Amino acid sequence: MTQQVTRATFDEVMVPNYAPSAIIPVRGEGSRVWDNEGLEYIDFAGGIAVTALGHSHPTLVNVMREQAGQLWHLSNVMTNEPALRAAQKLTQKTFADRVFFANSGGEANEAAFKLARRYAFDHFGPEKHEIIAFNKSFHGRTLFTVSVGGQAKYKEGFEPTPGGIKHCDYNDIEQLKALMSDKTCAVVMEPIQGEGGVIPADKAFAKQVRELCDQHNALLVFDEVQSGVGRTGTLYAYEQLDVTPDVLTTAKALGNGFPVGAMLATAEAAKSLAFGTHGSTYGGNPMACAIVEAVIDIIDTPEVLGGVKKRHDLFVEGLKAINEKHHVFKDIRGMGLLIGAEVVDSLEGKAAQFIKAAAEEGLFVLVAGPDVLRLAPSLIISETDIAEGLARLEKAIVKVIAENQAA
Ligand SMILES: *Cc1c(COP(=O)(O)O)cnc(C)c1O
Repeated sequence: MTQQVTRATFDEVMVPNYAPSAIIPVRGEGSRVWDNEGLEYIDFAGGIAVTALGHSHPTLVNVMREQAGQLWHLSNVMTNEPALRAAQKLTQKTFADRVFFANSGGEANEAAFKLARRYAFDHFGPEKHEIIAFNKSFHGRTLFTVSVGGQAKYKEGFEPTPGGIKHCDYNDIEQLKALMSDKTCAVVMEPIQGEGGVIPADKAFAKQVRELCDQHNALLVFDEVQSGVGRTGTLYAYEQLDVTPDVLTTAKALGNGFPVGAMLATAEAAKSLAFGTHGSTYGGNPMACAIVEAVIDIIDTPEVLGGVKKRHDLFVEGLKAINEKHHVFKDIRGMGLLIGAEVVDSLEGKAAQFIKAAAEEGLFVLVAGPDVLRLAPSLIISETDIAEGLARLEKAIVKVIAENQAA
């Protein structure tokens, strides 16, 4: 028998680490979502940059149904065809030669950081173990990934956290130069910081990071958990930076909402995760990998990737038009369909108000930190949905402005 559940049930049975909105969505199709009261929403959030092909994509639904009728799970004592095909696709389409499948972005990063340590250990000895990462970066919520991440609040109260990690300001090459040494085993960076405020890396900076890694025999690890799988208009964002990492992590859109992540690596680096050094019960299971294959096939096409550029322009033009009337943003930036709009000083710290106001107008949006409205819609969102969503966003913005003037 189905039990009645409401938002109040959350507080009764769930750990309070989230504070979900009152809305309980029950169904989605493309970029539209309906809640349990039948209200309709346009989705400019995509989960958090996850549903890059929207909700209930017919091909993905079919692939999932078909695989579900064939084989869900094996242990890693055996391999499976979907995993082999998905890894073949990922290696053919990127710099990488080898793939490790995990179940989330945090797990893919955990594998990458362990690989970096182990690679340095194998080739240079235990002294070479320092990881350098960037302030405001986000790499996941495991103990290792919050330690590498550049946001102190995520570590607070969980100490002692893993050591041997240093942080540097993003896009500051002089600071990085000063921090790097023969002890550095890896530099970890997002090609565009997502959670940190939608901040793209300078091309010249990325190039110099690559050079410094080469000088110091350190691996360059790109966290493309948010920026990958077509989000920025190329399959991975590194392609636009003209910099090739040694290791790359990918998740979020990779399964379009089915939990999966992957670490991609060069053959040389990959050797250090030798037999028995790392593993995962579910990582690389046939269900997830069948979906990965289909997601990559659909996204890595000129139509979808080219469409990202076109939609980027529509969003930016729309946001600029809203801004000309209401003067709420001091910067509109981003790559492809990862777009950030930083609020003006008078609304500093209040970006989260847009989430609630937008939901009341029938629109899902995101923030990236306290000052940046973030949009990460489906890569194939229709022009009608973009226009209608932007109209709803404008109404929400008017409301937020009015509330703050009244206060
Ligand atoms: C979301 C995110 C992660 C964490 O992914 P999970 O699947 O939540 O573990 C790691 N890195 C970046 C850049 C992300 O945006």
